[in-house]
Amino acid sequence: MSTEDLTTTSNFIRTIIDEHNASGRFGGRVHTRFPPEPNGYMHIGHAKSVCLNFGLAQDYGGKCNLRFDDTNPTKEEQEYVDSFIRDIEWLGFTWDGLYFASDYFGRLYEWAVELVKKELAYVDDLSAEEIREYRGTLTTPGKNSPYRDRSVAENLDLLERMKNGEFPDGSRVLRAKIDMTSPNITLRDPVMYRILHAEHHRTGSDWCIYPLYDWAHGQSDSIEGITHSICTLEFENNRPLYEWFLDQLDLYKPQQIEFARLELNYTITSKRRLLQLVQDGAVSGWDDPRMPTVSGMRRRGYTPAAIRNFIDLTGVSKANSTVDVGLLEFAVRDDLNNTAPRRMAVLDPLKVVIENYPEDKTEWVEVDNYPQFRDGVPEGLEAVRRVPFSREIYIERDDFMEEPAKKFFRLAPGREVRLMKAYLITCTEVIKDAGGAVTELRCTYDPATFGGNAPDGRRIKGTLHWVSAHHAAAAEVRLYDRLFAVEDPNNAPEGGDWIDNLNPGSLTIAAAMVEPLLAEAAPGERFQFLRHGYFAVDPDTGPDRVVFNLTVGLKDTWAKVQDQ
Ligand code: ATP
Ligand code: MG
Repeated sequence: MSTEDLTTTSNFIRTIIDEHNASGRFGGRVHTRFPPEPNGYMHIGHAKSVCLNFGLAQDYGGKCNLRFDDTNPTKEEQEYVDSFIRDIEWLGFTWDGLYFASDYFGRLYEWAVELVKKELAYVDDLSAEEIREYRGTLTTPGKNSPYRDRSVAENLDLLERMKNGEFPDGSRVLRAKIDMTSPNITLRDPVMYRILHAEHHRTGSDWCIYPLYDWAHGQSDSIEGITHSICTLEFENNRPLYEWFLDQLDLYKPQQIEFARLELNYTITSKRRLLQLVQDGAVSGWDDPRMPTVSGMRRRGYTPAAIRNFIDLTGVSKANSTVDVGLLEFAVRDDLNNTAPRRMAVLDPLKVVIENYPEDKTEWVEVDNYPQFRDGVPEGLEAVRRVPFSREIYIERDDFMEEPAKKFFRLAPGREVRLMKAYLITCTEVIKDAGGAVTELRCTYDPATFGGNAPDGRRIKGTLHWVSAHHAAAAEVRLYDRLFAVEDPNNAPEGGDWIDNLNPGSLTIAAAMVEPLLAEAAPGERFQFLRHGYFAVDPDTGPDRVVFNLTVGLKDTWAKVQDQ
């Protein structure tokens, strides 16, 4: 299946839009929005909503707004706004309008006054706890607040004084007057405004009452002329309230549509919990390559195309489910396989001296960058590079066994192996330190085997990657494993906390030797290290230090899962 086939795959949301287009409900318009709360960095779950909302707008020739739902000033920051903007652009999407719910604070207040005048809203003096008690439960109806029947005049006066800052935080709220016995608890006189004397990152100290989500969201959608307001399933019970406000105010009404959140195993997708990981120092920051944030995945080496592809593969559903994180890794590998050039990097170097090779000689061998394209590489890509070879090289420590196990075809005493594209070498001597650890190998090479082939056709089973010791660059290679050790990290272990699910081995650091071209690589560049996996250059790279992040290993674990 190609990406194009996937993006046009039908889903229940498209069916609804097609029906609206057929009936003319929105005059054929499609206008979606992505409404993040700027209280953390964008994560893979948000990426799903981004791909869905922007994707639908693209496919239907419509529009998509980016609107920050900034109604919670104590948790929101400009840094988070900036990160969402950067990440959405990086994923390849452009918004039609950029808005903030705070742009509408004035209009929301006027509409609140209108509802008070219509006797559809009132100021309540109950405490938060009392409000909770009065609300009732799923099985018991709620009861009316003693302040519910205040006069319009008194409510107008109190609301204005709330707005003017005359009352302390939490002392009063404005509530919609709907029905305290509704089977839908959301409709039991929901709170519209709370008092909060807090600096807002955009409106400063202009306001000391802030609208709640339900009061801000639908009206914001309506102001922007949104046609399809797509949100996750947990808002299903809020839809009647969304519509109630718009109906009472006689405003243009979008269609709210709910879909299932994206959940991944071994992964946390909650900004609140991701913030805790950052604050506790469990990760190096929001962009730690182990984080499921878009900035973390970018730093790790994931591509926008791979993320978009993955989101397409997960489909759009009405039923909650958990996706195997192996599918995401599959999409990354699938994309990098065709775009990341091969390189040689030795992660655990063991020195090999080729005793019969001239001391001052360097030969340059040609190595394929994209051996998978047998009929020539796509335009714009370089087919081969030249790699220096000399008397002293490094090979991977585990490519040698002093006493080779069965089926180990790599280097061993007396055995001949192929150095990729260079020569056949035979191990003649093993050098050890006082403790018995192997520190160096002595070998001889066969000068007649340049390119790695024996003229007499003798069969060589093992092929090793290598780097020339004199020419190689030292590099720090950060090897990542899953951040959490268990499938459902949200589930706290017995007697513990969810954070105890962290995988203690999620980062190991290797002091590698890499071929010289890699020393010039710029942050963000991606490569396949032969036999190891895909790696991206980390921004910690400086003039005298190259740092690589393991993006994903070579092994297709997803294929294995599918085969089961
Ligand atoms: P979080 O717990 O991470 O803060 P949220 O839903 O409260 O999640 P918002 O910033 O309010 O985060 O979300 C912005 C948009 O992204 C919303 O429309 C929300 O439904 C959507 N979204 C958030 N998480 C997911 C997810 N896991 N899968 C799909 N959509 C998501
Ligand atoms: Mg939220």
